[in-house]
Amino acid sequence: MGSPKLPVLLLPHPLILLPTARVTLPISRSLADAILSLLDDSDAVLAAIPLPAPDSPSEVTYGTAARIARLVRPRNQSSPTQPYLLSLHGIQRIRFPTPIQIDRSETLPVHNVVYPSSEGIPSRDTVEAFKHAALLLLDRLAKDSPQPQRKDDWLRVAAIVEDISEQRATWMADVLVAAVSSQYPDKLAFLAATDVEDRLRRATELFVKQSSIQEVSKKIASAVDESFSRQQKEYFLRQQLAAIQRELQSLQSSPASVGTGFGTGGATSELDDDDQADADDLADLRRKIEALDVGSEERKVGIREWRRLKRIPQGSVENGVIRSYLEWLTSVPWPSNKTTTPLDVLKDHSFLTRARAQLDADHYGLDQIKRRLMEYLAVVRLRAIADAAQTQAQGNNPSTDTFPGATPTPPTKSKGVKGPILLFVGPPGTGKTSLGQSIAKALGRPFQRISLGGVRDEAEIRGHRRTYVASGPGSIVQALRKAGRNDPVILLDEVDKVGHSNFHGDPAAALLEVLDPEQNHSFNDHYINVPIDLSQVLFICTSNTIDTISAPLLDRCEVVELSGYTYDEKMHIAKRFLLPKQICANGLSDSQLTLTDDALLHVATMYTREAGVRSLERAIGAVVRFKAVEWAEWLDKGNGTMGGEGNAKQNENGNEKQDANANENGVRKEWRATVEPHELEKILGIPRWDGEERDREEKRGVVYGLVVTGMGEGGILPVESTALPGTGRLKLTGSLGDVIKESGEIALSWVKTHAFELGITAGRGVDPLKVPDVIDVHLHLPAGAQKKDGPSAGIAMICAFVSLLSGACVPKDIAMTGEITLRGRVTPVGGIRMKVLGAHRAQIRKVILPWANRKDVEHDVALEVRREMQFFFVRTIDEALEAAFGRGALGWRKETVLLESRL
Ligand code: ADP
Repeated sequence: MGSPKLPVLLLPHPLILLPTARVTLPISRSLADAILSLLDDSDAVLAAIPLPAPDSPSEVTYGTAARIARLVRPRNQSSPTQPYLLSLHGIQRIRFPTPIQIDRSETLPVHNVVYPSSEGIPSRDTVEAFKHAALLLLDRLAKDSPQPQRKDDWLRVAAIVEDISEQRATWMADVLVAAVSSQYPDKLAFLAATDVEDRLRRATELFVKQSSIQEVSKKIASAVDESFSRQQKEYFLRQQLAAIQRELQSLQSSPASVGTGFGTGGATSELDDDDQADADDLADLRRKIEALDVGSEERKVGIREWRRLKRIPQGSVENGVIRSYLEWLTSVPWPSNKTTTPLDVLKDHSFLTRARAQLDADHYGLDQIKRRLMEYLAVVRLRAIADAAQTQAQGNNPSTDTFPGATPTPPTKSKGVKGPILLFVGPPGTGKTSLGQSIAKALGRPFQRISLGGVRDEAEIRGHRRTYVASGPGSIVQALRKAGRNDPVILLDEVDKVGHSNFHGDPAAALLEVLDPEQNHSFNDHYINVPIDLSQVLFICTSNTIDTISAPLLDRCEVVELSGYTYDEKMHIAKRFLLPKQICANGLSDSQLTLTDDALLHVATMYTREAGVRSLERAIGAVVRFKAVEWAEWLDKGNGTMGGEGNAKQNENGNEKQDANANENGVRKEWRATVEPHELEKILGIPRWDGEERDREEKRGVVYGLVVTGMGEGGILPVESTALPGTGRLKLTGSLGDVIKESGEIALSWVKTHAFELGITAGRGVDPLKVPDVIDVHLHLPAGAQKKDGPSAGIAMICAFVSLLSGACVPKDIAMTGEITLRGRVTPVGGIRMKVLGAHRAQIRKVILPWANRKDVEHDVALEVRREMQFFFVRTIDEALEAAFGRGALGWRKETVLLESRL
C-alpha cells in the first residue's frame, strides 16, 4: 500500500492551523485556480503547513490535514493581488516522512504524508494537571474580559473542561490552544507533539505561562490606573491648598490686620501681585455696591449677589460668573451716579449760538438739516431745564423727604427727552455719523455708536440671560458703560439692516422698546436683569433707506434726509474739511501740500461716483500719503533742513518751501507742493469713471432710467430691449421683482394698444409683435446681481419699447423716471432728489419727471444743479414720448392722440 499523498499549502507566517480549528486567509488567483481543480476530486483535503519564521531553517516536518471549507471572491476585495478568501478546517496532525523544503511558488506541490497515531489515553495525573491549568486560565480570562458576553463564553468552556473525560482531554487541548492567544514557538511545538501525553503536558505548560502573563498585565494596568487617580487626588488637594493660601493672604492684607503680617513681615513679593490685585478688585466692587442708591432695585440685587459670591469658593466657575455680573452691574451708570449733563451748559444763553457754530465747524452746507437740528437742540434744552426745575421743586418739597413712609411711590423718575427720535437717512458718506457726533459735542455729552448692521440676535441688543454660557449684556448696556453717564448721545447706526423676527428672537422689537419713550425708562437687559432708565439717553438713528425699516420703528422717528452732494459741494467739503484732515493725519502741514481746484474736481469726477464723500476722502488720503512719501524721500536726499528740531520749527512757521528754496545750491531740487490733475493718474491709477461717459450709447431700444440703489444712492440705469424671433411674448431679465415685471407688462400693453397711432403698425388692432414678423421682446435691466423692484421705470420701459419697434432713438443725455398707468398717465415717484443728483453726477443734462414731482425738484434740488439741468415734467405718456424722442420724431397720427388724451 503506497503512503498517502496530499497537496501542500503554505500558511503565511505567523499563521498556524491546529486540528479542530478554522482559519481564513487571502490567496492569489493562481492558487485559487489550483484549489478549484482540487475541489473536483472527491475529498478536497490538503496539508496546511506553517511557514517557518524568516530566520529559522526552511524545512518543515509537521502540519495539519485540512478540509477546504470555503473559497470565495468577496465583492469589495481590497487586495488586487490576493483577491480570494480561503477557509480551512483543521482535521488531523500530519508528519512528512522526510522534512520538506519550503517551496514559495504559488502552486500546491504534492508530498507523501504520514498520519501519526492519536491512539492512547493520557495518564490521570497529566489530565488533572491539564484541567487545573486550563481552568485557572479560563477563570482569569473570564475575570479580565470586559464584555459580559465573552465572560459567559469563557465560563461555559470552563464547565465543559471540568467534566471532560480522559479520552477527550487531548481533543480539548487542541481546541483550547487554538482559542487562547499564545506565542508562536509554543504553538508550533504543540503542533509537533504527536504523542498524547506529551501534547497534554505542553498544553498545560502553555496555559500556566499564559495565566501568569495575563496576571502580570492585569497588575500593570491596575497599577497605572492607581497612579492616575493618585495624581488626580494630588491635583485636587493642591487646588484646595492654593485656595486656602489665597484666603489667608487676603485676611493678612485686609485693613483690619495691617501690620500683623507674619513670617515675611508683610514684605510683598512680585509673585503675590495677582492675589493683591484680586483682593483690591473685590474691595473695589464692594465699595461700588455700597455706593448704589439705598432702596434701589440695583442695590438690592447687588447685595444679594455679593452674599452669594462670598459663599461660593474662590476659583470656582460660579464665583467668576457672579463676579463678572457684579462688575457689570456696578459699572452701569445708574441715576444715583449723578452723572447727568451739568445744567449750566444748557442754561447758558449762548448755547444755541455755540451749537450752531459747532455744526457749521464740522459740516459744510446741509442748511436745511442744520436748521432742523437747531430746532431739535432747542427742544432738548428746554425740556432738560424744565425737568431739572421739576426735580428741584420735588427735592425742596419737605413732604417727600420727611415722611418717606407716607408715599410708597418710588423716587420720581425724570421725564427725559421725549421729543422725536431723529433718523438720518441717506447714502454712505453723507455725514450721518458725523452729524451725530456734532450734536453730542454741542450738548456736551459723550457720544457712542452702536452698529446694528447684520444684527440677527435679539440678545445682541438685550444681552443673554445669565444661565447662558459666556453670557454678557447687550450693546445698549455696553454703550452706557463706555459712556460712563446715563445721558449720552447714542447713535444707532444702520437701523435698516437690523434683522427681523427669527428663531433668535426679534431684534427689531427690542430696538422698539429701546426707542419708545413710554417704555424706555425701564429697559430690561436680560443679563443685568434690573430695569435701566434710558429716558435721558438721546438716541439718533441712521439708515441708508427707509424701505426696509419696519413701520412701527419708522413711526417713532422723524426722518431727516441727506441725499448726497453735488460736485460743487464736494469741492468745498474736500477743500475745507477732507484735505486738511488728511494732511494732518499723515504728518504733513498745509504748506507742504496743496491740490489745485482742477485736481480736486478731477479726483471727484474721475475717481469717485458716489453721493457721499467717503471714497473722495479715501482718494484724497491716497494722494496725501503719496506726497508724504515723496516729502520724506526729498528730505532724506539732503534737501531742506534735516533734523527733527529744525523741521519742527519749519512746520510751525509753515514756510518749508521758502526754506527749501533758500537751501538750494544747484544740486538740490525744489519741493513741489502742488498736485496737478495730470499727476493724478500716476498716484491713483487709471480713472475709474470716464467723464465723457463714452460707454453710454444712443441705440435703438436702449433708454436710461433713474434709480435709487439699496444704499440710498441715486444713479442712472440702462433699460435695454431687443427683438428676436419668437412667439410674440415678453421676456424680462435682470433680477427683477414682481412690481417692476408688472410695469414691463403694462408698458408693452400700452405700446401695443397705441401701435397704430405711434406709426408702428399700418393698421388698427395689429399686434406689432406678430406683424410683419412674429417676434419676442426681451427687456433687460443690467447692473449685475442687484435686485430691482419698484414701478418708477415705467416710462423708461415705454420709451425703450417704442424705440425698439419704431426705430427712433432716445438721445443718450436724457434720463427719465415715472410710474405709468394703463390709461396713459404718468404718476409721481419717490427719491427725486437722489435721482436728480445721481443723474447730474453721471453727466445727464435732461431729465423727464412726472408732473407731480415738480415741487420736489423746486424744494429739494440745489439751485446750481437745477441751473445746469433741463427738466421735462410730464403728465401723460404722450408728453413723455415727445420729450424723449423730440417733437415730430415719431410718426404720430395726431387726431387720434387728441382723442386718447381726453380719455
Ligand atoms: P455716514 O455716517 O453718512 O456714512 P460719515 O458721517 O461717516 O458718513 O461721513 C464720512 C466722512 O465725510 C466723515 O469724515 C465726515 O466728516 C465727512 N463729511 C460728510 N459730510 C460732510 C460735510 N457736509 N462737511 C464736512 N465733512 C463731511
